Amino acid sequence: MNLEFREYQAKRILNVHKHVDGGWFWDKYSAHPYIGCRHGCEFCYSRGGHYLGKRDPDTFDTLIQVKTNAPELLRKEIARRTPDVISCGDWQLPAEEKYGLSRRMLEVVLEFGFPLLVIERSPFLLRDLDLLQEINQRSWAGVTLSFSNVDPVLKNAFEPRSPGLEPRLQMMEKIARAGILVGMNLMPVLPVVGDGDTHLEAAVRAARDHGASFVLAAGLTMAGAQAERTLAAAKRLDPALEAPWRNLYRWTEGGAPNYTPPPADSIRLGRKVRELCIRYGLRDRIPRHIGAGPLAVNKRIAERLFLKIHDLELEQAAEQRIWTYRKAAWAVDECPQSIAVIHASMGESGLRALPGIGAGIAGEIAKWLTERS
Ligand code: SF4
Repeated sequence: MNLEFREYQAKRILNVHKHVDGGWFWDKYSAHPYIGCRHGCEFCYSRGGHYLGKRDPDTFDTLIQVKTNAPELLRKEIARRTPDVISCGDWQLPAEEKYGLSRRMLEVVLEFGFPLLVIERSPFLLRDLDLLQEINQRSWAGVTLSFSNVDPVLKNAFEPRSPGLEPRLQMMEKIARAGILVGMNLMPVLPVVGDGDTHLEAAVRAARDHGASFVLAAGLTMAGAQAERTLAAAKRLDPALEAPWRNLYRWTEGGAPNYTPPPADSIRLGRKVRELCIRYGLRDRIPRHIGAGPLAVNKRIAERLFLKIHDLELEQAAEQRIWTYRKAAWAVDECPQSIAVIHASMGESGLRALPGIGAGIAGEIAKWLTERS
């Protein structure tokens, strides 16, 4: 298979999220040096959507666009921002070996004292373990390693060119031994073939055995060219998979699939992974990094509100109730004043004056604040 690198000078590198990615990766910023990925996993969501712009999705793994000015741009853009968690870098081979941009981006992250979350599949990340440790000492570093499963047959069917399972698990162990928070990104869990109890338990057990602190799981989303390729891979594995997969995504021949499987399937997956994580002593969410300072209390209370959203989803609570918590979590997370100070001076009425916080949640927050003092 041919591989072409196309170098260019990017105009921007730092994505600034409107809200922190609460309950999931907790990042406020992200920055990546390459577009396209040689590992070419069939289910990769970057094949669809806006990520590739006007590029032919079939070039995703044969043409890598290289933002050669990524570290310099990051330095310029990060200097104007308040430190918060940044998800940064991309250790895909052979791009990172040739250009080394991710390492240089980590040097910038270290220089400015930003906390870092790395989301990665490639053991080439271990080249930069020294820098991860330095960042962890100065601010914070966490790593979440991606697996769709730990079954070699499924791995070869859906991600034939990604790094092997064993090297990924070994990497997990080395990162844990270096004192850095590490866990498993179990996504996308492949429906029908990979979401049974045996597959899920094998993944959670492997994570626990290799030093993970958490397993963060999610099902498969389907869109555009990515959906076509993923279904084709499933059919190559077993033609009998086509009917249940189409049924799951309400996908008729010639039509478009639903983006997600039915909510009941996602809830079953979430509940099962939670049950397994409890059994194996892991968390089913990434612990949030919260730096010191007067607003740390806001971040901690917002974390509880975000985590409550996931609890409510697993309980199949009404969408409106979930949104109430989401809006409250954003309001607390983004409040420029300490909510502990607001509560101390004005009581619950001060909390209720924040946008999106009603009497019920204000009472809950007040209770949490009182527990802390
Ligand atoms: S390694 Fe990650 S970015 Fe690369 S193709 Fe696979 S899922 Fe996509």
